[in-house]
Amino acid sequence: MPELPEVETICRGITPVILGQKITSVTVRNHKLRCPIPKNLSRILKGQYFLKTNRRGKYILLKTKDGALIMHLGMSGNLQIKPKNHIPTKHEHVSINFANNLALCYNDPRRFGVILWTTKEPLKHKLLKNLGPEPFSDDFTAEYLFNSAKLRRCPIKQFIMNSNIVTGVGNIYANEALFASKINPLQKANTITLACYKKLVKEIKKILLSAIKHGGTTIKDHTDSSGKQGLFQNKLKVYGRHNQSCYTCKTKLTTIKIGQRATVFCSRCQKNNII
Ligand SMILES: [Zn+2]
Repeated sequence: MPELPEVETICRGITPVILGQKITSVTVRNHKLRCPIPKNLSRILKGQYFLKTNRRGKYILLKTKDGALIMHLGMSGNLQIKPKNHIPTKHEHVSINFANNLALCYNDPRRFGVILWTTKEPLKHKLLKNLGPEPFSDDFTAEYLFNSAKLRRCPIKQFIMNSNIVTGVGNIYANEALFASKINPLQKANTITLACYKKLVKEIKKILLSAIKHGGTTIKDHTDSSGKQGLFQNKLKVYGRHNQSCYTCKTKLTTIKIGQRATVFCSRCQKNNII
């Protein structure tokens, strides 16, 4: 599932290619995503130009003078730049063709993604308006997390994966950030000290930045907009390392499920640190 670094990698890749290029046509081969793609998308976009791209959480926003395309890659979506006359792959549901003879192609085998159009401020759209702060923003601080956690008795891992608390920290990076901060993923959010939250905020920012630098994590099918795989999977300390030993202390890693999501941690390095 694409998380923030993968979405950011894709957004950075497509931006220089599509900005300021006239949209000559749009082909929608399958309208059935998580929300149906607008029937008149082709008519709306033809002749327009994308003037600005932006990422908010795991959403990609492509703005024209009349409105914005809101995209979410869901479980298995991807955006790639291809020559306009390429042969579409089986799950390539949308192609946006530009005057420079390139196409922005949306591929999504599981079809949990979203492609919507709005003429209003996209950040106020119902899908985006309740998102928490961006992890790289000045609003995302230890004090903010500590205060938000006061009434939260859920495990810390679920707390930081809640996009209304902070956007874009998905399963892979939640596992990694908790290991780096030496926090047990099961510890209740409201029992964690401010000092531990300081460490956690620092590690979340550091890990996400490093993952972006490495082009994201490719477990199954993530690629950047040119089809190249990410490299951060080689840097993972706990995620995907079921039954292997901790790099720090050699203890066998523990694997459990928290909120249906695979959670891997070291029971020796990641001890509860209760207030
Ligand atoms: Zn350990």
